[in-house]
Amino acid sequence: MSATPLTLLRQHFGYHSFRGQQAAILAHVCAGGDAIVLMPTGSGKSLCYQLPALLRPGTAIVISPLIALMQNQVDALRQAGIRAAFLNSSLTPTQARAVEHAFIQQQLDLLYLAPERILTEHTLTLLKKVPLSLVAIDEAHCVSQWGHDFRPDYLQLEQLRSLLPLHIPWLALTATADELTRLDIRQRLGLQTAQLFISGFDRPNIHYQIHQYSNARSQLWRFLNTHHSNHAGIVYCLSRKKTEDVATWLTEHGRCALPYHAGLSTIMRSQHQARFLQEDGIIIVATIAFGMGIDKPDVRFVAHLDLPKSIEAYYQETGRAGRDGQPADAWLSYSTYGISLLRKFIEDSHADEQQKQIERGKLDTLIGLCEATTCRRHILLSYFGDNTPPTCGYCDNCQNPPQTWDATLPAQQALSAVHRTGSRFGVNYLIDVLCANDKEPRIEQYGHHQLKVYGLGRDLDPQQWRSIFRQLIVRGLVKVDVTQHNSLHLTEKARPVLRGEQALLLRQDSLPIKSKRQPRRE
Ligand code: ADP
Ligand code: ZN
Repeated sequence: MSATPLTLLRQHFGYHSFRGQQAAILAHVCAGGDAIVLMPTGSGKSLCYQLPALLRPGTAIVISPLIALMQNQVDALRQAGIRAAFLNSSLTPTQARAVEHAFIQQQLDLLYLAPERILTEHTLTLLKKVPLSLVAIDEAHCVSQWGHDFRPDYLQLEQLRSLLPLHIPWLALTATADELTRLDIRQRLGLQTAQLFISGFDRPNIHYQIHQYSNARSQLWRFLNTHHSNHAGIVYCLSRKKTEDVATWLTEHGRCALPYHAGLSTIMRSQHQARFLQEDGIIIVATIAFGMGIDKPDVRFVAHLDLPKSIEAYYQETGRAGRDGQPADAWLSYSTYGISLLRKFIEDSHADEQQKQIERGKLDTLIGLCEATTCRRHILLSYFGDNTPPTCGYCDNCQNPPQTWDATLPAQQALSAVHRTGSRFGVNYLIDVLCANDKEPRIEQYGHHQLKVYGLGRDLDPQQWRSIFRQLIVRGLVKVDVTQHNSLHLTEKARPVLRGEQALLLRQDSLPIKSKRQPRRE
């Protein structure tokens, strides 16, 4: 019987069936197709290139930035009876020569390479000597400056694509890439026509709740007392000082809480981390410095006392809860002050204007998630392109629909402002048109003071308008074009709202409402 993906899965890995989209990805790659694979950590991305490496003639090249993990991966493959090796800076010259020799003799199914070696004359000559079955780029988001972990070495991959024969399939694999980062991966790696596979982002055991509180600490305390009086969890804060203050405060209230941030000594950090992993019921109060590589299955809650900087960050940080599959909470409290603080960080940073624009956009989308009246899970998963039902029944908005007001009319005005100005402008300018801001000279210059929507929106203040635009964005009625100065344009989803067939409801509690509006429930 000839080998199939399933027989090889059983033979080498001892598993009986494929997970999620593994089978579809394998079929696509084995047939020679390029693929972009977006699946969360731990969901089984490696098999998507390891099995095609066995099924296709030639040796597979795997590019991975995690030198420390290459040895483990290769050891595991060898134990499974697969011929694998790696080349990176940890090898002695003799060891490296032995690997190269095996490669040239076509004795390897997979060769793992560190990205910094790719474009050396030596490596390129080597790669041309042997037929290749595929090229897999692990942690592919590292190629994008828009992603969260850019690595300059990865830019070399742009050229590798054109230096290798075209018929070799390429796979880009990552656990975190929003639409923008995916676009960048496509462009940089020459994967314009690659099929996109997205799946498995849902964490059904996590209960999401997001609130705007004036006294976040006492709300946190109430939440902990009610649901997690002796559970382990993580509390994220923006500043180092705040992590220490909150840890002290929790300790004074009888919980065992330890701070964790990059300003603590290495010894103290590893002590706190070890206690969190080994003892029961410890709370770590941390900045984002905490979390990478922490694998504690029974983290029962992740609480945010400050906003994360993007939906990706929120998903990653909350994803540390409930790895054991048991119920866990993701609890977030935010304030308008917190929002302005994050905005200030972006403006004060040394990033260039394009980067700042992207960061502003990501922050706005996160705020959109906070202000949403509809299912949190649906918004979260849609952001990654994962298809889900519109309601989950297991988030705060599904379980306790918030008080809302009917913002359909201003939403229509906003949408028509986008359309009438030619889909060329960003939120700020559109609000200036709606509110007839006479300090914006471009309005008259472009003749936009003659539009019907000009000044129609003076009933609301710019803050409320921003909130409306954010909802139009998170709900997909308008799209932001970051390559065109964050200009907005309408999507198909805008039609029913424009035609009055669908209402747009906004939270009562997200922003103070100036005019008297009737509360209603969704
Ligand atoms: P990722 O690269 O997405 O983080 P891995 O490829 O390391 O995840 O896989 C995570 C774990 O899941 C590994 O232990 C792997 O052997 C296991 N796994 C992968 N596919 C399957 C499957 N079809 N059935 C059972 N276990 C699987
Ligand atoms: Zn829900």
